Amino acid sequence: MKCIICDCETEKIRIVFGQGLVCSDACAQTASARRDRYYEELNAEDLAEMPDKLETRDFERWILKYAIKRLHCICDEERKQLENEAPMLLMPEQFALICKEQVLQNLHRAYHSEVKHYGVDRLFSGGTYCLRQPVPKAKILEAAQKAELITF
Ligand SMILES: [Zn+2]
Repeated sequence: MKCIICDCETEKIRIVFGQGLVCSDACAQTASARRDRYYEELNAEDLAEMPDKLETRDFERWILKYAIKRLHCICDEERKQLENEAPMLLMPEQFALICKEQVLQNLHRAYHSEVKHYGVDRLFSGGTYCLRQPVPKAKILEAAQKAELITF
């Protein structure tokens, strides 16, 4: 395995959620800091700020932004409930997976190939679907509304 930070080949791997595999504590810290900066950057943006047409990578970024913002504003009660019932969902990347599925289920099939995440794959999935063509922003927002993720 290759460390995503220092690029070394290593047998001893650690996972940094939202980033990937690293070789050491030092690299884990660098990767976590990088992830936290990215989360902050996304959280500072307006949710409605998105390209007019979204490719897979744009959609991934937008849905992660949605998850980060949503997790930022859940109330203490909701947070406690999640901690008890599904603590993984407090991680933006994990929460984003669920949101992504909900949006894709409400997006016309012509736009994407099927989402299939099973078992452990769900934790590490980098997206086993893809948008077949750039999807107009309005279609994504419409699907997110149908999924009751957003109300605007
Ligand atoms: Zn490393």
